[in-house]
Amino acid sequence: MCGIAGAYGVENASRIVSQMLKALQHRGQEAAGIVSSDGSKLYAVKGSGLADEVFNHVDFAAALPGRSAIGHLRYATSGDSGSKESIQPFTAELRQNRWFALVHNGNLTNHLPLRERLQDGGAIFRSHSDSEIFLHLRARAMAMDLPAQLRESFAAIEGAYALLGLSLDAFYAAVDPQGFRPLVMAPYQGGWLFASESCALDLFRVSGTPVAQGELIELSASGKNSWSFGDRSRLRQCSFEHIYFARPDSNVYGRSVYRVRVTLGKILARKVRVPDAARERSIVIAVPDSSNIEALYFARETGLPFEFGLIRNHYMGRTFITPEQEARELGVRMKLNAVEAVVADRSIYVVDDSLVRGTTGRKVASLLREAGAREVHMCISSPPVKHPCHWGIDTPERKQLIAAEATTEEIARSMGVDSLTYLSVDELHEALEDPDGTHHCTSCFTTVRPVTGQLLPPEHLIRPPSH
Ligand code: 5GP
Ligand code: MG
Repeated sequence: MCGIAGAYGVENASRIVSQMLKALQHRGQEAAGIVSSDGSKLYAVKGSGLADEVFNHVDFAAALPGRSAIGHLRYATSGDSGSKESIQPFTAELRQNRWFALVHNGNLTNHLPLRERLQDGGAIFRSHSDSEIFLHLRARAMAMDLPAQLRESFAAIEGAYALLGLSLDAFYAAVDPQGFRPLVMAPYQGGWLFASESCALDLFRVSGTPVAQGELIELSASGKNSWSFGDRSRLRQCSFEHIYFARPDSNVYGRSVYRVRVTLGKILARKVRVPDAARERSIVIAVPDSSNIEALYFARETGLPFEFGLIRNHYMGRTFITPEQEARELGVRMKLNAVEAVVADRSIYVVDDSLVRGTTGRKVASLLREAGAREVHMCISSPPVKHPCHWGIDTPERKQLIAAEATTEEIARSMGVDSLTYLSVDELHEALEDPDGTHHCTSCFTTVRPVTGQLLPPEHLIRPPSH
């Protein structure tokens, strides 16, 4: 998973992009980069770490001049995490002195065969990132103008992409034909801003509209042009953006993440029976911050008091990001602590947004028990995660997913909780206001491919190295 942002035709474009990247920091914390254009040259600043660390000492006017810029935040994965070559934006000099830079959020599912085919034809790749494919395909495209070259490249690609591109004198934005990953745009001071999530646009007090599935936009001195491309008969917006990934103050795909989480919490509450005899001692808590909204509305719906039974250390990063399991477990402990004064002797309904490996759930259960909780009821506002994502969410291999094989009862037992409640896929669709389940990708829960409807392979066969 990654975050992208861009600005076209505005003063201080690169500084604005750096500020938007900071607002999108939750989407990737491993590396950050910006490329700007002043019309005659592309300029780049990239580095490992948080946006703040990479850009804090940058003199934007000198190092990243110009009125257009694109930026990227890289999400850590266990595979290719340290490689400098994989830090975006990617830049290439194509024929006739045409420079082009791009940033990409999403995963390309036919990346490996495409890469091999291009290598057979002499292509030399600089990174293991699937995103580099776009540059190679564009370099080989036969079409004359850049928008046509991009559409020609997209025709060869399968999978998920929200991308921004920059040439010396034009700016591009595109979303794949199934619309897997979010991208919003808004007019700003005579130019345009783009970002993965609307929270980045809020900084500049502009509200965005989503870039549509299969839409390519070009901004240049001759104005704004757009084209539709690909088979747009299926819309497959990522349900996990709403469940976990996006900030709750964002709109993604034109829908408020907060509102979806409210409904997820309410639906979850309908599934739980609190025995009358236990009501007096029962409370609802969140696993902060990712399930705060769901837990609050779960509490309202059940009529139980909402308490802060777990306190988060805000100086720790997201635990999921630590690659080694041991470090991750210590990470959860350093990140969360139970409040004995709240949880001792209580029956706790603890709401979390998802169980992936089960690391957080297991630790939370033991923290609560150690602090004296009498019962721990784990309530998860999403369905069991049964398969890795091939479209851009960095869920781990299937064998690490706690729900890949085990039943709910087995998971509850292994986590040491008194009960475990998940949402069903239908209930998730209800919260997404997509009752027929035709607009969203839920393949990590159903194991069904979002485009063809076939079953996903049992093992982790097609996932490309992440970027
Ligand atoms: P687990 O600890 O079961 O592996 O992961 C579940 C916890 O991690 C939940 O609290 C959830 O908020 C968070 N989580 C779920 N998916 C992701 C993800 O893709 N990235 C990160 N950083 N955290 C996640
Ligand atoms: Mg969480």
